[in-house]
Amino acid sequence: MFTIIQIVLFIVLCSVAGYFAFKGYYFVYKNIMHGKSEDLSGNSSERLKNLLLIAFGQKKMFKNITPAVLHFFIYAGFVITQIELLEIFIDGLTGSHRIIFHAVENISALRSIYVFTISFIEVASVFVFIATVAFLSRRWILRVPRLNKPELKGFPVIDATLILLSEIYLLACIFSMNTADMALHNGEYGFLVSGFFMPLFAGCGETCLHIVERSGWWGHMLGVLALLVYLPYSKHLHILLAFPNTYFGRLQPKGYINNMPEITKEIKLMMDPSAVPPPVDANAAPVKFGAKDVFDLTWKNLLDAYTCTECGRCTAACPANQTGKLLSPRKIMMNTRDRLEEVGRNRDANDGVWKDDAKSLIENNYISVEELRACTTCNACVEECPIMISPLEIIVQLRRNLVMEESNAPAEWNGMFTAMENNGAPWQFSQQDRLNWKNG
Ligand code: SF4
Ligand code: SF4
Repeated sequence: MFTIIQIVLFIVLCSVAGYFAFKGYYFVYKNIMHGKSEDLSGNSSERLKNLLLIAFGQKKMFKNITPAVLHFFIYAGFVITQIELLEIFIDGLTGSHRIIFHAVENISALRSIYVFTISFIEVASVFVFIATVAFLSRRWILRVPRLNKPELKGFPVIDATLILLSEIYLLACIFSMNTADMALHNGEYGFLVSGFFMPLFAGCGETCLHIVERSGWWGHMLGVLALLVYLPYSKHLHILLAFPNTYFGRLQPKGYINNMPEITKEIKLMMDPSAVPPPVDANAAPVKFGAKDVFDLTWKNLLDAYTCTECGRCTAACPANQTGKLLSPRKIMMNTRDRLEEVGRNRDANDGVWKDDAKSLIENNYISVEELRACTTCNACVEECPIMISPLEIIVQLRRNLVMEESNAPAEWNGMFTAMENNGAPWQFSQQDRLNWKNG
């Protein structure tokens, strides 16, 4: 009877968590789909290589060895513990206890593999614990500058801390479950780390050990389900999105900037006075330059925003930020995501149809003109990002809109733009006078 209740409870909890998790992930998907279409399907072998090296292999992380090693412990530990989670999940569905162990306990080789695997997971978990404590210390005791910038105030810092604490909680559950289970079975399983902790339960009776073991089991299961539901609202969504984001990452050289075809056409005409301008199509929709809001960015830009880990490597390398300017490429990504979330909530509150809220990504507490003007387009942020995000693409699009749609540029720039338009050069001389200098 008790087993039936446990199975039913397990299925109900998984279904409820699954429902809310689906809602969260679908919300993110619909938001990303607000972006303009862009075909990034070609070059699959190069993209696969990026996926394997940069997302799975963490290649770009290793530029900075200490956080890279700590991050690797957590990442590898996360992947490896999924093996034990699989057994926990099957046990929950079938009402069994260590179903894999009992399936292989009489086959010596398989039993050894099982014990080795769980022991390996336990050792990896110890490293995860060390890395988690180190990350908490870097944030709260050492106060590493890039983790203490103004854009991280409020929810971002709570989010980061919450996830680190939940790692410790999950580890405590796993170890209390395994250690109590070992004590209940007189060390029969032979797990490495929980065998070491077993003397801690020396004074516990059988009932007490059962309670600790079941609390660890349920605690771990509930923690995993809660994380699954929480992930779409957290920067830790990068655990999942880093893979598609690196696969669809830009393959062009970093200095490449997409030209605007209409402007290229004008410049070609300007450079060749004998060229005949093409006829004007009176029915064509007016061209919109750059991006004013998230709808004008591409789906890849929006995927970038949701994938950002808020690590701040881009901001630490940004020359504008280093010299005290307001610009922080990390904030550009966070603001884009925040605006996208606002758009998504608006859409869902209006039966799936976006209702104009007279706001945009520029100003309205999002990205200021001052930030956009501070960018030198140096690409340092793109180079530094460990998961192939480009804050610069968004900055360039927003700045194009400011300058070309709103004529919003400093007076010095406007003088140069006028000269470019009239004289084909940034100087205030007509083209005919260009060579006057040689006349002395
Ligand atoms: S491209 Fe702009 S935002 Fe990126 S690092 Fe350079 S100045 Fe900073
Ligand atoms: S854009 Fe990249 S480097 Fe910058 S905070 Fe996000 S993940 Fe880190």
